[in-house]
Amino acid sequence: MPGEFELIRRYFDRAGLNDPHPAVVLGIGDDCAIIDPPGQHQLCFSVDTLVADVHFPAAADPGLIARRALAVNLSDLAAMGAVPLCFTLALTLPDSNPLWLEQFSSGLASEACAHGVCLAGGDTTRGPLSITVQVQGTLPMGRALRRNGACVGDRVLVSGSLGDGAGALAYLDQPAQTLSSTQQQLLDRFYRPQPRLALGQQLLQIGGRCAIDISDGLLADLGHILQRSGVGARLELDDIPLSDALRREGGDTAQRLALNGGDDYELCFTLPEPLWLAHKETLCALVPCTAIGHIEAGSGLLNTSGEPLTVTGYQHF
Ligand code: ADP
Ligand code: MG
Repeated sequence: MPGEFELIRRYFDRAGLNDPHPAVVLGIGDDCAIIDPPGQHQLCFSVDTLVADVHFPAAADPGLIARRALAVNLSDLAAMGAVPLCFTLALTLPDSNPLWLEQFSSGLASEACAHGVCLAGGDTTRGPLSITVQVQGTLPMGRALRRNGACVGDRVLVSGSLGDGAGALAYLDQPAQTLSSTQQQLLDRFYRPQPRLALGQQLLQIGGRCAIDISDGLLADLGHILQRSGVGARLELDDIPLSDALRREGGDTAQRLALNGGDDYELCFTLPEPLWLAHKETLCALVPCTAIGHIEAGSGLLNTSGEPLTVTGYQHF
């Protein structure tokens, strides 16, 4: 079993993870990493921790855990409209199992390459399995998609389809070979969330001001937008996009999973009606986007008939 420094060199200071990046002046190997952000840009960053048996089963495929750990962080950058730059990794491991580390490192490298980010540093400790990734990205000076950017009259929109990640929770502990192909599709959505980076950047370009990524459920996360923006919203529940796999597997619960289930990492955003109509095609070419309601004066969430919607999104405490 490799010692700490050999472990870092072999699995993290390697091709595909810390390939040279023009903005990362100094990466793994010194006391700190150094970043040189492009002119007229601001650095933005976000951190997320995945704890074994809270966020994923401890015995889950290490490559998939690694991908998910990076992807959920990149999703936060997507929700701001940022361009990803690099990330750091704080890893707590029960032991230094070479097979586990090789699979983890390969999964991390393929996710990093797919999104053009490099691993600039980290920390390695022994203890119960836990993975903390911090991502850094850049934003044009003074611009960002913010939770406080929703205005009365805006359309409320979401990318992709909702509820698949939550639909997969029932299968997390089951052996893959016992699952139907639609159940596997849901599981794939859980382990391989697609950070909607291109969509976030495009929203920023066309003049969008407001977005959030859906990690805790549509109602809970849209609720954050409403609270920060001091507005309310009315939703057309029947317009909420559901995948065929979720309709089949979720049956009567599909819509509830889409409203209150987390783990999808799609974007929920608002746009003034004329902006949405002018840019619908460009946005939908990146990922299908669906209008699901309107921002209104007031507070809280209503359905089309004006009845309040109950939020039961996930909270750790
Ligand atoms: P220090 O004791 O100064 O905190 P460390 O011995 O923890 O430094 O780490 C040595 C170098 O290896 C640092 O550049 C650190 O960023 C990097 N590093 C440590 N663990 C990891 C990891 N899991 N992934 C990436 N880089 C790491
Ligand atoms: Mg250290």
